Amino acid sequence: MRFFDHNATTSQLPEATAAWLEAGELYWLNPSSPYRAGAAAHAQINGARARLAALLDVEPGRIVFNSGATEGNNAVFAAWARDFCTGARIAVAATEHPSVIESAAHYFEGGIDWLKPSGDGVVCPEGVNLSDVSAVSVMAANNETGILNPWQDWAKVCHKRGILMHCDASQWIGKMPLAGIGACDYVTACAHKFGGPKGIGFSLMPEGARGGLLGGAQEGGRRAGTEDVPGILAMVAALEAAEPGRAELRDKFIAALQEAFAEVEIVGAGSPALWNTASVILPDFKSARWIRALEKRDFLVSAGSACSTGKGGPSHVLAAMGVDAEKASRVLRISSGWQTSEEDWDALLAALIESHRELLDEAADSNSQVISI
Ligand code: PLP
Repeated sequence: MRFFDHNATTSQLPEATAAWLEAGELYWLNPSSPYRAGAAAHAQINGARARLAALLDVEPGRIVFNSGATEGNNAVFAAWARDFCTGARIAVAATEHPSVIESAAHYFEGGIDWLKPSGDGVVCPEGVNLSDVSAVSVMAANNETGILNPWQDWAKVCHKRGILMHCDASQWIGKMPLAGIGACDYVTACAHKFGGPKGIGFSLMPEGARGGLLGGAQEGGRRAGTEDVPGILAMVAALEAAEPGRAELRDKFIAALQEAFAEVEIVGAGSPALWNTASVILPDFKSARWIRALEKRDFLVSAGSACSTGKGGPSHVLAAMGVDAEKASRVLRISSGWQTSEEDWDALLAALIESHRELLDEAADSNSQVISI
């Protein structure tokens, strides 16, 4: 199998698996239990917190471990809804992940200024009127297109105005440099995007801020629920092992793809983007047919966010960028990993060319229309 869907999830790094197995053997007790073995498990959590704080260059007290970015994103809006005065407004990028869009809408219905991206997909602070808002939520890297937002500039603008800033950095952390991310007041991330296990993540929050889960006093009373010690240790081991990737192979693939198919369009061409992601509008056939044809050849790609699967309808990200629904129905999200080789990219291009031929033959056979079948 050649896996080109790393923005959906990644396989676990050996370092993460080793840490997970060891912790499962040694630190399986409840970290809140009142005996020494429980305290030993608890000490492991705080050791992991200190290592993560060092990687992120933040105070350990800002880190809250949780079940992943969906929970982390929900927690931000729950916290803001609790802490802000009635009628407070927030600004949220229109291209955010559904776990941001839907929780913002749930807690701040009617009180949201949606931040539109430019046609090239970037959400910039220039010219945005923030005079009425108490907080801003802008993601670091888009999961569907890989397009990067200038979160560093947003953090500066927000701080200057005394506005809180949240950054969903789920696709950034582990792929891009971590320097400066602590400048955002709230940051959310999940391990399974960078070689850690699924179902574990972390948030940065201002010290003393509390998330959405109520109940026990875990995480200093900021996130209730028994901690997943093996998951936490595996996540930190994965982030310590994650290496920066290179965009050259992806760029070479895009150039070759454009040569092979004159009609191909690249979503956000020219915008800064993650090194691993190509969002491409292919000719003639809907995404699902391309995905199936590629899967037959052992290549796994997707059309967009895995979290939107089953929701139907065109991507809200592409719609916000002004891509029309017909074109959006032909998009493929191709996202490589750290191990993806030049040979994998070349093989993907060959598989796309072969798939196109096969789909055209099938369409001719069934005497159906070629356009948007
Ligand atoms: N935010 C972004 C940008 C994502 O890509 C994802 C994962 O698809 C999430 C949030 C949700 O993360 P999780 O799977 O940990 O709930």
